Amino acid sequence: MDSYLEAAERMRPQLEAIWRKLHEMPEPAFEEKRTAGFIADQLRRAGFRVREGVAGTGVVAQLEPVDAAAEGGVAEEVADWKAAAGQAAGKEAGDAAGRSAAPVLALRADMDALPHNVGGQQVFVHSCGHDAHCAMVMGAGMLLARECPAARGRLRLLFQPAEEAGLGAQRMLEAGAVDGVDVLIGIHLRPAAECRLGQATPCVMHAGGRTLRYSLHGRPAHTGRPHLGANVADALALATLAANSVKPDPALPGTVNVIFVSTGDGPTGVIPDHGGMAVNIRAETDDAADELRQRVHSAVTSAAGSVGVEAMLEGVKEMPAPSYHPDAVALARQAIEKVLGEENVIEAISTPGCEDFHWYSRRTPGIKAAYIGLGADLKPGLHHPDAAFDLRTLVYGTAILAQAAADYFRRQPEE
Ligand SMILES: [Zn+2]
Ligand SMILES: [Zn+2]
Repeated sequence: MDSYLEAAERMRPQLEAIWRKLHEMPEPAFEEKRTAGFIADQLRRAGFRVREGVAGTGVVAQLEPVDAAAEGGVAEEVADWKAAAGQAAGKEAGDAAGRSAAPVLALRADMDALPHNVGGQQVFVHSCGHDAHCAMVMGAGMLLARECPAARGRLRLLFQPAEEAGLGAQRMLEAGAVDGVDVLIGIHLRPAAECRLGQATPCVMHAGGRTLRYSLHGRPAHTGRPHLGANVADALALATLAANSVKPDPALPGTVNVIFVSTGDGPTGVIPDHGGMAVNIRAETDDAADELRQRVHSAVTSAAGSVGVEAMLEGVKEMPAPSYHPDAVALARQAIEKVLGEENVIEAISTPGCEDFHWYSRRTPGIKAAYIGLGADLKPGLHHPDAAFDLRTLVYGTAILAQAAADYFRRQPEE
């Protein structure tokens, strides 16, 4: 049999066509309708049981165990499922995705694009490479569907919405998309500065993130009589300095940044009495992020309080730090080694970026997670509207994901 790299290489025109199609229909968080429709259609044709509309615009596709000798094979399975899915309309996605004793390995891709201002116009661009992640997960699924190694388990493909909004993974969890999953593997292109084309890591160490949003409440007054008011603009200036004075431990990488302040645009003769502020915190561990959160909160509230303004915490957006399982990391590492060679395995990459992928393991005790960082010669950088990468990456990513899944299923006892 061909290696997965050879098989993915032969698939390259198809992978590039899939990627191009996705690249040309960038859609923002929770609006990935055309993207989801295209993915679902392609995977149904490849023999997957597919469920759309999971967590809004998410797609869950599963390859069921088939008896290779049985008449009908994959096609018959799909026909059965379609009938069952019709009867079970309205049931939870997790049920449709199938729960059973057979081990389930899931590959996860994210689907959303980012808004950018280009030439004064807001446009959406796949500047985080999520189009590539979808193409590689689809490609791996198609390779595995052809040879049906899932006879010893179930392969599930997850296409989640709204990663950039930090909400998609949680909604997928609530919809049951990872119910019954034993091993979960995510993948992301890495910027050229972190990892070259042809290299990869089974362990991307993202930061844990916390974004604190405040509303500020002062007291209005005439600007000719400011001593009678409590000025929210003053409070914001002091709170910004105070938040920026919270120093992360240099031994543990971390950052604190004020990312938003506003008093709105009121009349020029009135001391502003309301406003808003947001502070973003990143740290290598959740404990370190939580400690910074406490210190930032105390700095902001006391700085605002010093001029008579109350800073009220309106909400905290949390992105967990990674919690990987050594078995899943070893599986991904071995797949990278088989596809790219031992010399091209990077043991771990630390990045200040956050990923909502880590909600899956945070909320699902027992799930074994790993997250592959894939060299792509991506320039000038992620989230840049001109971000571009070498399309050969699609071949490598597809081969690595297919290899990892196949290795996992081969280790399972026959059903
Ligand atoms: Zn991103
Ligand atoms: Zn991303």
